Amino acid sequence: MPKIVIIGSGFGGLTAIKTLRKMGCQDAITLISPRPALFYFSSLIWVPAGLRTEEDLTIPLDTFFKRHNVDYHQGTVTGLDPESRHVETDHGIVTFDSLIIASGGRFIKKLPGIQHIYTPCEGYPPTKAYSDRLSKLEGGTLAFGFGGNPKEPTAMRGGPIFEFLFGIDTLLRQQKRRDKFDLVFFSPAPEPGKRLGANAVKALLNEMKKSNIQTRLGHKMKGFTENSVQTEGGDFQSDLTLFMPGMTGPAWADKSGLALSEGGLFKGDAQCRVLGFKGIYVVGDSGSLPGPNWMPKQAHMADLQAETAAKNLLTEQNGQVAELGFKTELICIVDTLDKGMLIYRSAKRTILMPKLRLFNWAKRFFEWYYLRDYR
Ligand SMILES: Cc1cc2nc3c(=O)[nH]c(=O)nc-3n(C[C@H](O)[C@H](O)[C@H](O)COP(=O)(O)OP(=O)(O)OC[C@H]3O[C@@H](n4cnc5c(N)ncnc54)[C@H](O)[C@@H]3O)c2cc1C
Repeated sequence: MPKIVIIGSGFGGLTAIKTLRKMGCQDAITLISPRPALFYFSSLIWVPAGLRTEEDLTIPLDTFFKRHNVDYHQGTVTGLDPESRHVETDHGIVTFDSLIIASGGRFIKKLPGIQHIYTPCEGYPPTKAYSDRLSKLEGGTLAFGFGGNPKEPTAMRGGPIFEFLFGIDTLLRQQKRRDKFDLVFFSPAPEPGKRLGANAVKALLNEMKKSNIQTRLGHKMKGFTENSVQTEGGDFQSDLTLFMPGMTGPAWADKSGLALSEGGLFKGDAQCRVLGFKGIYVVGDSGSLPGPNWMPKQAHMADLQAETAAKNLLTEQNGQVAELGFKTELICIVDTLDKGMLIYRSAKRTILMPKLRLFNWAKRFFEWYYLRDYR
């Protein structure tokens, strides 16, 4: 019986398992990840308001693995030999016939002074540490920004930073201490969030204006100190900085023997196949796959690619030619803690819905709906 190995228990890895089993695949499936849990990043934005704890966002997968007959290998991948078809982990070697890589991205932490800032992309501990500092601050300047990977323009994530920014603005107003703080949004891009569409950028910047949030745009980042953000356009005060750096591929990518993009991600084709080796696929934040320049690094995209990779894997195992491509779609609710703005983009249309309470409820409902499969 062929053995399928999946690296990563995030959105892409788990959707690949669901799709394989839904398609009737009876093969042995092994999933490798450091812990048997799914971390639901999207709701980290509610941690500063105390609406979510680490437990709420960490979904144990024992039941899911049992239900889908998955062998779980606890470990961190350190390398790969695509010729002899084995994955190296810190807990031994795992062989495979087919492999789906879904081990997410890594954030580029090269800017000087990066230790002074908080990066919510790294999960709960930095987000909680940020929230605790915020609750103790009596006033000052709060800066929020995101960067990119110049060699991989799609490997950036700005959406959650807009959400933290607007959410904290709302939170401070609810706490009746907004007047004690200056909020500054910064980005090296002159039009931050451009992938969301030109109208969305306008709407977001307009929202900042209405909420008395200052902007510092279009200046290359130089670094951070404990109480400032440094850019080529000048430095500015920040008593607490939340920053999402650009992304690159996982640390083990260099030791994988696989083709990497200039930006350090696994290079794949429109069928999610890693170039150069049969039966190896990549999905989600780990991959550099062809698509429009607005293709997002989102859980939803990881899901769409994982479905495609799983179906193509089965097609190729049956000796047929895999031709299935993945749909590119951006769906984003920019939550502001009490309301939300909906942005949708596909090849055919872009939809921007104004800030409404309904979209905050929709985001909460979606969290429950999405996670019910794993609980
Ligand atoms: C604050 C925040 C808010 C977000 N909000 C949204 C949102 O509202 N909507 C949306 O669609 N997207 C959102 N995203 C983006 C979304 O979370 C990512 O795009 C998504 O997690 C990517 O899925 P993935 O499966 O590629 O990787 P991940 O979900 O990152 O999963 C990677 C998996 O691989 C494992 N892994 C890592 N390294 C190794 C290794 N060496 N060996 C073995 N396993 C390894 C990890 O433990 C994890 O299980 C948000 C992200 C953040 C940070």
